Amino acid sequence: MDELKFYVDRLAEGKEERLTLDLAPDFISVSEEELKFCDTVTVSLRVYVASDDLIIHFSLETQVTQACAICNEMFSHKLLIDDSCYTKSLSSIRGRVYDSSNCLREAILLELSSVVECCDGHCPERKYVEKYLTLSGTGNGEEVDGVQPFKDLDFPLN
Ligand SMILES: [Zn+2]
Repeated sequence: MDELKFYVDRLAEGKEERLTLDLAPDFISVSEEELKFCDTVTVSLRVYVASDDLIIHFSLETQVTQACAICNEMFSHKLLIDDSCYTKSLSSIRGRVYDSSNCLREAILLELSSVVECCDGHCPERKYVEKYLTLSGTGNGEEVDGVQPFKDLDFPLN
C-alpha cells in the first residue's frame, strides 16, 4: 500500500515523517466468517531512523466485526492501539523502501481477542448460559474461559 511506504533515504540526517491517514481496511486482508474488518482504519504514524533501525511509532483505531462468544451474533466493537512502536533493522529492508502495512496488520491481529461478547460484555443471552460459565478468580464474573460443562450436575438451585 503506497501511502504506508517509507523511503529510508528520505529519513536521513534525523528527518522524520509524520502522517495521519484514513485507510480502507483491505490491507488487513482478513475476512473470515467470524471476523471481519469493514470500517475505515484511522492511523497516525511517526517514522524516523535511529542508528541502524527504522522506528515506527503509531496509533490506530478501527471497528472490528466479530461473532459474540455467547450468542454467536456478529457485532462491531472498537479496536484501539495507542502509541505502539515497531522497530525494523535497515539491513533487512529490501530496496530501501519499507511498507509499514505489514507491521500495522501484525499489531491489529495481535490486539484481537478471540473471545468477545456483544453489548459491552452484557450479551442478552448470557443469562441462559451463565450456569455454564465459571466465575473467575477475581470474582467479576466476566470470564468466558474455563467452561466446565459438568460442574452443575448436582442440580443447581436455580
Ligand atoms: Zn451476544
